[in-house]
Amino acid sequence: MRGLLARGMFAAALSLSLGVFANAAPFPGAEKALQIYFIDVEGGQSTLFVTPEGKSLLIDTGWPGNNGRDANRIAAAAKDAGIKKIDFVLITHYHDDHVGGAPQLAARIPVGTFIDHGENRETSDPVASRVFAAYQQLLSSGKYKRIIAKPGEVLPITGMQVRVVTADGDLIERPLPGGGKENARCANAAKPPVDVSENPRSLGTLITFGKLRILDLGDLTSDKEMDLMCPMNKIGAVDIYVVSHHGFLQSGSVVLVQAIAPRVAIMDNGAMKGGSPAVWDVIEKSSGLEDLWQLHYSAEGGDAHNVAAPFLANLQGLDTGNYLKVSGSADGSFEVFNSRTRETKKYEAKKN
Ligand SMILES: [Zn+2]
Repeated sequence: MRGLLARGMFAAALSLSLGVFANAAPFPGAEKALQIYFIDVEGGQSTLFVTPEGKSLLIDTGWPGNNGRDANRIAAAAKDAGIKKIDFVLITHYHDDHVGGAPQLAARIPVGTFIDHGENRETSDPVASRVFAAYQQLLSSGKYKRIIAKPGEVLPITGMQVRVVTADGDLIERPLPGGGKENARCANAAKPPVDVSENPRSLGTLITFGKLRILDLGDLTSDKEMDLMCPMNKIGAVDIYVVSHHGFLQSGSVVLVQAIAPRVAIMDNGAMKGGSPAVWDVIEKSSGLEDLWQLHYSAEGGDAHNVAAPFLANLQGLDTGNYLKVSGSADGSFEVFNSRTRETKKYEAKKN
């Protein structure tokens, strides 16, 4: 009798623990989700994609210095995702807030392959030259594979499709599946000035996971956005737009944002970097937008040009490095988790 009771109690305890486990699962079918961490690197970029099979792609490495702050935050995200190595590190362009953290990252966690657009084209800028030299030195160790990516290529990562749409100032020539529609916003749009920095060289990618489409153009500037989107939209609509250039004024034009018509936009701004009010307005007014999320409250935006607190990973004040995490499903549904509030918002798959 005591034995039966003990077994009964054990079974009850087991079912209770299983019950808790099921409730604690972050996403229905979480083991089949694409996980995307928008790591807070204080106004730089670092976005980690981890497939259900554990394959990983990191887009940019954040800043150099700060005692390895950004490498530590990337390593923490990798640990949370259950990976011990980063298979691919994609460098969008050679600015210190994107490639600067590469040496510290490589010292912190094993990396397989680096992907970039080729040479640094902003040799007149001492900071770009310095971070490019440090990156070249890292590559010269011979420890890593390197891919110089071209528009149209699909990167050799399995479990999701990563298609290059822009690189080194070049663009895809033909529209992608889902693209090709005339863009009504082009007719009245003024041609933006040509940007001669590394920004328009950004290695931009369209990432698809089943029906889910995510666009990341690094710091691509408005002149290239127009080439990509006019007269026809070569990309098509996307579910998630990684807001270009941290929400700075030189990027995120209406010809891009209205045409890709994201359901959700995620801005990797810092407290004092990006989040320009004019760009914020373009995103907020974009047709079909359900939510904008921001890594930081933007000082420049003030209360009129910042999202409500539940959609902010980091409020004003103390730097606590909170992140946003997307869990995406192949049916097109996804959810966004805010590590500050511990709250999750779900976005159902579209009907069509
Ligand atoms: Zn940047």
